[in-house]
Amino acid sequence: MSDSLDPSFSLPLEIDSVKGFLDPVEGAELYRRALDACALGPCLEIGSYCGKSTVYLGQACKSQNRTLFAVDHHRGSEEHQLGQEYHDPEIFDDGLQVVDTFKLFRDTLRRADIESHVVPLVASSLVAARDWQTPLGLVFIDGGHSFEAAQSDYDSWAPHVTSGGVLAIHDLFPDPDTGGQAPITIWRQALDSGLFDDLGVVRTLGVLRRR
Ligand code: SAH
Ligand code: MG
Repeated sequence: MSDSLDPSFSLPLEIDSVKGFLDPVEGAELYRRALDACALGPCLEIGSYCGKSTVYLGQACKSQNRTLFAVDHHRGSEEHQLGQEYHDPEIFDDGLQVVDTFKLFRDTLRRADIESHVVPLVASSLVAARDWQTPLGLVFIDGGHSFEAAQSDYDSWAPHVTSGGVLAIHDLFPDPDTGGQAPITIWRQALDSGLFDDLGVVRTLGVLRRR
């Protein structure tokens, strides 16, 4: 696959100006899948951080006049905490001594002009899922990467992907030396369940379709 972005879509802001953990090729894949999925239902992501994936998904939803629900407690994952590998002082609230990505996230929504189509759910994945009932056209799982968190995200949200809809899972590392194994574990579980077809993997982004 070519490394260049699909020239048929342009983003409303300089994507490199948004902090985050998503390759532009993966972003383009999310955008493309969301465009189709919007015909089936709204989209939902778990793990927005500062909004990089939100821009791709939100832009696709906006073009189809659909809603993207963006779930994140905005307190960061394990690896974002003080002293951890991906800690960033710019997302640390010194007064409260906690990670807070919500301000930058909101700023991204405003700059990308997608506030009209993105509903932030500032809550943990479990809390957001507790009373969820709406069938979803696309679910993107990119939240906590502990086995417990990934499993809980899968259990909470995969059942809401409507027939024909897409389940996308980020950070698949077939080689344990290159990355954590929790996301690829739930991806394999989805395949083994017989409920999903494999639509392929782009970089570390696995894409599945609900039967
Ligand atoms: N999709 C983002 C990266 C997400 S990083 C991008 O494109 O850059 C992972 C995010 O998941 C963090 O912001 C963290 O706060 C959030 N997160 C981790 N565990 C969570 C949970 N249990 N519920 C909600 N959000 C969670
Ligand atoms: Mg990720």
